[in-house]
Amino acid sequence: MPPVGGLKAEVMDHVEKNQVMIFSKTTCPFCTKVKELFNSMGQECKVLELDKIANGPDIQNTLLEVTGQKTVPNVFINGKHLGGCDDTLKAHKNGSLQAMLQDATNYDYDLIVIGGGSGGLAASKEAASLGKSVAVFDFVKPTPIGTTWGLGGTCVNVGCIPKKLMHQAAILGHSLADARHFGWIVPENIQHNWETMRNAIQDYIGSLNWGYRVQLRDKKVDYQNAFAEFVDKHTIKAVNKKGKEVTKTARDFIVAVGERPRYPDIPGAQEYGITSDDLFSLSYCPGKTLLVGASYVSLECGGFLHGIGLDVTIMVRSILLRGFDQQMADKIGDYMEANGINFVRPCVPTKRYLLTTGSQNTKVYGKYSDGTEYSDTFNTVIFAIGRDPVTSNIGLDKVGVNLNKNGKVIANEAEATNVSNIYAIGDILEGKLELTPVAIQAGKLLARRLYNNSKVLTDYVNVATTVFTPLEYGAIGYSEEAAIEKFGEDNIEVYHTNFWPLEWTVAKRAENICYAKIICHIPDKERVVGFHVCGPDAGEITQGYALGMRLGATKKDFDDTIGIHPTCSEQFTTMNVTKRSGKTINQSGC
Ligand code: FAD
Ligand code: NDP
Repeated sequence: MPPVGGLKAEVMDHVEKNQVMIFSKTTCPFCTKVKELFNSMGQECKVLELDKIANGPDIQNTLLEVTGQKTVPNVFINGKHLGGCDDTLKAHKNGSLQAMLQDATNYDYDLIVIGGGSGGLAASKEAASLGKSVAVFDFVKPTPIGTTWGLGGTCVNVGCIPKKLMHQAAILGHSLADARHFGWIVPENIQHNWETMRNAIQDYIGSLNWGYRVQLRDKKVDYQNAFAEFVDKHTIKAVNKKGKEVTKTARDFIVAVGERPRYPDIPGAQEYGITSDDLFSLSYCPGKTLLVGASYVSLECGGFLHGIGLDVTIMVRSILLRGFDQQMADKIGDYMEANGINFVRPCVPTKRYLLTTGSQNTKVYGKYSDGTEYSDTFNTVIFAIGRDPVTSNIGLDKVGVNLNKNGKVIANEAEATNVSNIYAIGDILEGKLELTPVAIQAGKLLARRLYNNSKVLTDYVNVATTVFTPLEYGAIGYSEEAAIEKFGEDNIEVYHTNFWPLEWTVAKRAENICYAKIICHIPDKERVVGFHVCGPDAGEITQGYALGMRLGATKKDFDDTIGIHPTCSEQFTTMNVTKRSGKTINQSGC
């Protein structure tokens, strides 16, 4: 437990030192029932009768603060809050009380976390800082072409971090062209060097990998670079890259094993194609590149590869960015196409990739939806057709954890699986957003609920996100389609505007390409339920408005907020054209 003072420390001391701790009152019939239950089970318990001690009412208030429950009995088992009379009787009836009591066994650790990515590292560090003994097992299985990486999971090694840095490389290229308009003498024929960029980014990632190891060591989390799988609900076996096996036990487990890219089921896919797992550390410049898929990963990677000067084609099966506001998705696609990225749609790859000359020359065959054949030759083919949770070979079946048909873990709003001591967080959770800050928040709050009697759940609603395409896209809450479906078209008002960032004017970039809109729920004082922006620095703009939406901001609140001039973000404080009105939204000055 973390250091706490006064009454809270006294309460936590009782909770920590006693296997069963009951805060009770002699006059309460529900307390009597609970005491009789433990008595009938032959279970020893410590009872503190609050009506018999002077500071009883203060302790009761402290219990409210710690557990959210004011009534007695207030029952704790092995340091964990169980609840009141009904909770205890229910737990007894369904067997979970007996399971909690058996948990007193001497395990190697209080908590083992499987997966040292965004979620796993956050959970393990938080649990350790709450005084628990914790181990993290993290292991990266090499890709089919042998790429592997260090501690930290997808985000740090093959996701957010290298992606955003390569996006920055592309932005810098564009800025060099802009710079001429601002008086800089920039030579023609500027070249980009893939190796220099890759090495610099990989060096930075190396420093992050090292930093995570140091953090775990400082927090006394036992880090093991080994692949773990369940043997039973309290035991895992783990094998390191030399084949050495260890067996470890823990009272609780958090599974945070993440996802890996999917390959299409066509011959040659794994031999001649790569995924985002390989791209960021590729030893050679990918050259003329085909990306298959049309979501986050494909559009972002296609965007920065084109931005550093490569010939890029994106093969789209159906729509861009399924699940996102489709008006915004189309704006991203139109901008990419207008700037020279080739879209092949609607089309899927069909045939084997033939190596023609050299190891990086690949012929790709595809089929358009009308049956027309497609073929072209590329230096590199990147599959970005989705990611699969790596939950199938880690013994979850042995311990009976429920998975859905796609291998995602089914858990409740407290990230608890159907097995009492096994929890899951991050990308492997069914129906949750696959984003780093979501996994981190879930890990941290779960550890606090497990080991600090917190009741705070992760709020998965209105999570802001940004797609780092050449025209960045930030979004919070409902897409226009989803808002219409949820609230009905007559009940929503969409305010929107095109805009021309000041920085783009002198640089002579296209006018009125950038776009902002908010979706308001009319019956709820025009509360803003959807926020969308396409333009430079969309991520930076969107983050702050996420706070406003969390606090229930209405259109009037947006209007009452004075903007910062001249910025793109100020568009949201001055929007006055509704989509319904059909009025013009082009801007031509400030
Ligand atoms: P991960 O970070 O994937 O960590 C899981 C870890 O567990 C891995 O190290 C894995 O090797 C290890 N592991 C798996 N099985 C075992 C086992 N049996 N034993 C031991 N270890 C095991 N999110 C954003 O918020 N912003 C972005 O800009 C962004 N960009 C992205 C770009 C790309 C190209 C990709 C692919 C993803 C991106 N994401 C982004 C998503 C983000 O990376 C994930 O949501 C996040 O990493 C999920 O964290 P996690 O803890 O669930 O899993
Ligand atoms: P998604 O599952 O979101 O998208 C998969 C894409 O591939 C879709 O366009 C899909 O098309 C297409 N596809 C699927 N199967 C095939 C096939 N057999 N042939 C051709 N095309 C196919 O996956 P991503 O890998 O892009 O992203 C995974 C998650 O990672 C995202 O949900 C996101 O949460 C996270 N992420 C976050 C980022 C950020 O925050 N900036 C960046 C990157 C990833 P269709 O629509 O037709 O099904």
